[in-house]
Amino acid sequence: MIETDVLVVGAGPAGLAAALALKRGGFSGRVIVLEKARAVGNHVLSGAVIDPSGFEDLLTADEIAKLPVEAHVTRESFRFLTGSGAGWRIPWVPPMMRACGYPVGSLTKCVRYLAELAQDAGVEIYPGFSVVELVERDGMVVGARTGEKGVDSRGHHKSNYLAKEEIRAHVTLLAEGAVGILTERLIAKHGLVGARPQSYALGIKELIELQEPKAGSGGEIMHTFGYPVNMTTYGGGFVYHVSDSQVMVGYAVGLDYADAGLNPHELFRRFKETTAVQRHIAGGKSVAYGAKVIPEGGFYALPKPSVPGCLILGDGAGLLDSLRIKGVHLALLSGRIAAEAILAGGDVASEYERRLRQSKGYAEVRRVRNVHGGFSYHSLVGVMMAGFAWMTFGRFPFWTVGRRHRDSQTLKRIREDAPADQLPISSPLSPDRLTDVFLSGTVHEEDQVSHVRIIDAKRCEMCEKRYGQPCTRFCPAEVYRSDTGVVRVDFSNCLHCKTCRIKCPFENVEWSFPQGGDGPRYTRM
Ligand code: SF4
Repeated sequence: MIETDVLVVGAGPAGLAAALALKRGGFSGRVIVLEKARAVGNHVLSGAVIDPSGFEDLLTADEIAKLPVEAHVTRESFRFLTGSGAGWRIPWVPPMMRACGYPVGSLTKCVRYLAELAQDAGVEIYPGFSVVELVERDGMVVGARTGEKGVDSRGHHKSNYLAKEEIRAHVTLLAEGAVGILTERLIAKHGLVGARPQSYALGIKELIELQEPKAGSGGEIMHTFGYPVNMTTYGGGFVYHVSDSQVMVGYAVGLDYADAGLNPHELFRRFKETTAVQRHIAGGKSVAYGAKVIPEGGFYALPKPSVPGCLILGDGAGLLDSLRIKGVHLALLSGRIAAEAILAGGDVASEYERRLRQSKGYAEVRRVRNVHGGFSYHSLVGVMMAGFAWMTFGRFPFWTVGRRHRDSQTLKRIREDAPADQLPISSPLSPDRLTDVFLSGTVHEEDQVSHVRIIDAKRCEMCEKRYGQPCTRFCPAEVYRSDTGVVRVDFSNCLHCKTCRIKCPFENVEWSFPQGGDGPRYTRM
């Protein structure tokens, strides 16, 4: 058994901010950070045009100047896409959406930089370890256990076997990201759920290298809404020129969609085919890929963020500005507040909750509380809610807008007469799903028990008749394939995005921890 004062589960922005702020605040105890990815940053993915306010409260001006971001936003535009053309440019970027001067680049690189600063301050960081279980005594979290390594698919120990390890901690910080398994279990066990169920979007992203650099394009960004989704499905895309020769392109679709035939990866490819996007990326080649879910439920879905001995940070606590789709600054903020609560001593769980509720980040999430709910009805309702939120500082509408359903409950029966879709042909600029998985660097040791399990094959038969087995479409890594009605799982492709945990209409997927160190290996996302 290992003993520490603070255990941080997850080396993302929230966990590292907490560890760094603790040490910089004069904390003399031991701080251990465990990360399931092979290296820090390998499982971190974001747009990313970053609201710098989170860094401003954490780092010195000199350290902020050294953030490994490629550019700062110099030009921004908004487009409403109605089809595969150029769409309409919105003549005026709403003030709440403006990002001029914000850093734009790879969150993976920023997180690695934070890890270096934290290690210099005395934090111990150990990548390659999955934390699979929280340890509780008398209703209080007193630590956690790491998972075994080196177990084959039949449960036998291999030569590289590593046993579970218990880590005792005075305070455990859960910074697992969205749909963290330990976080979900803690929320369910202690009844921490928010007023509404959490709702998510799936974000898919590629890094594209241009063959011919566009001089002066670094720092130019474009956001879109509309096509390729219809007006009752929440979706939007982005194009970020991180340098004159590299462009980040992404698309996010709300997982409360109703069309059982929808395929997020194909939407992403159609988005890239539009004239509006081709102007930015034509002639380029996709060189990196990733996908993750974003917690979009907003204010009404915020869980209670703490129990004695354990605090929930960042995406796991549902902290996202659902108007700007920005959460990195809120993750950093929650980490810093967790550190302050620990440094204050006393009842850390209550202190964290109190400080979080009084923070500017909490006010930001509250202000836009009805925006996502509006989009769940119709894009125009969402746009109206965004306008009201901004003009009235979130005071109107004063009632709760949005559905009460979980994302798994929103699908309608698949249309049997739906015309067959003509999918784009795979190309260097528009890879199919399996080529994209290769670009994500995903690796799982094949000889281990699958971390993705279909709970009941009979439910898949019912699902085929009703919804046409949507897992074969919504998974951005093609982990699920239907073989004459039987769903087969190829877990080795899994990007750990958790869409299947959220969207399976029969909630028929059990997602457990793969061996530590496995999964995607993002380096530039
Ligand atoms: Fe995401 Fe599930 Fe597919 Fe893995 S199997 S990539 S978690 S949808």
